[in-house]
Amino acid sequence: MDNSASSEVAPPGVNINVPHSARIYDYWLGGKDNFAVDRGVGEAMIKAIPGMRYMAKENRKFVHRVARDLVRKEGIRQFLDIGTGIPTRPNLHEVAQDIEPTTRVVYVDNDPIVLVHARALMLSHPQGRSEYIAADIRRPRSILEDEALQDTLDLKEPVGLTLIAILMLLADADDPWARVAELRDALPSGSCLAITHPTADFNPDEVTAAVAAATGAGMTLVVRTREAVERFFGDWEMLEPGVAPVSAWRPDEPADNPEAAYYWAGVARKP
Ligand code: SAH
Repeated sequence: MDNSASSEVAPPGVNINVPHSARIYDYWLGGKDNFAVDRGVGEAMIKAIPGMRYMAKENRKFVHRVARDLVRKEGIRQFLDIGTGIPTRPNLHEVAQDIEPTTRVVYVDNDPIVLVHARALMLSHPQGRSEYIAADIRRPRSILEDEALQDTLDLKEPVGLTLIAILMLLADADDPWARVAELRDALPSGSCLAITHPTADFNPDEVTAAVAAATGAGMTLVVRTREAVERFFGDWEMLEPGVAPVSAWRPDEPADNPEAAYYWAGVARKP
């Protein structure tokens, strides 16, 4: 037993002897919902990629820009966010409801520690709504047929589907392209899909070392090429600027080096 981990108190159902993506990401963002085992892997990955915390922040900033643009420019009034993570303010519904208070958001995650925080995710603007579902993206039907989703979202109206920094946690053997296609097919015309995905395309050495640190600790972490990320969008129309480095997707201010955050990012709309 790892003494540093066993001295910590975990909520029920949370295994603090195995590193978890939600908790590692929380650690990079400066949160408190992480344990020794997560900080160990998180630090090993920072050693491999010194800009890891910067990457996590750039990824969050993309979430904010996407929520804003989908509400303002694409008329999206309901979101399905899968792989939500531990609440980090502002959360997606807060950004969206700041612009349009009636916006409805369903959050989905399969990590018990995110479930512990579900109530915080559900502090909706009174005119809108936000709900939380504990489910797995590898079983899209379990999400789409969930009662809370059916109650909250109208699947005949456009939905903003956000898959932000989650698909790298699915192995190719789980066929994430087929899972995402099932979700796309369930949504009506005018719906939008936003994705970020880590890649080795910009800095193979650093990223390969970080993946080795994660997989060495027993995690599944798969970085993918631009082409592999583009395939997640199927035949939907890419919105400008297409699949781009996350910091170069409609930045508020141009980044000095847009390839310093090793994520591809893109948004597409169903014709
Ligand atoms: N989308 C957030 C958090 C990313 S961390 C952001 O970008 O800021 C990845 C999240 O995906 C974690 O919370 C993890 O628990 C969740 N996750 C991992 N595998 C999942 C799966 N198979 N189904 C649902 N959620 C999953």
